Amino acid sequence: MTCTRCSGLMVVDHLLDMQESSIPMWMRGLRCVTCGNIEDPLIHHHRIVQRARRTNRLATRLALTKKGLRPAQAA
Ligand SMILES: [Zn+2]
Repeated sequence: MTCTRCSGLMVVDHLLDMQESSIPMWMRGLRCVTCGNIEDPLIHHHRIVQRARRTNRLATRLALTKKGLRPAQAA
């Protein structure tokens, strides 16, 4: 896997989460050996959800455009 910031090599690392939990929790994540970017499972999940939402919005706009309807503009 490559880093989303610099395309560097990502390696498995064990991360200590001290802010989001009431007790320190170890979790497995990925760390870029070049720039230090960290991706844990929660960050990865949020990125997948955001990407899916963007794709759905784009697909809806394209479908409306094909039907000759103008997509609603965001306020
Ligand atoms: Zn990187």
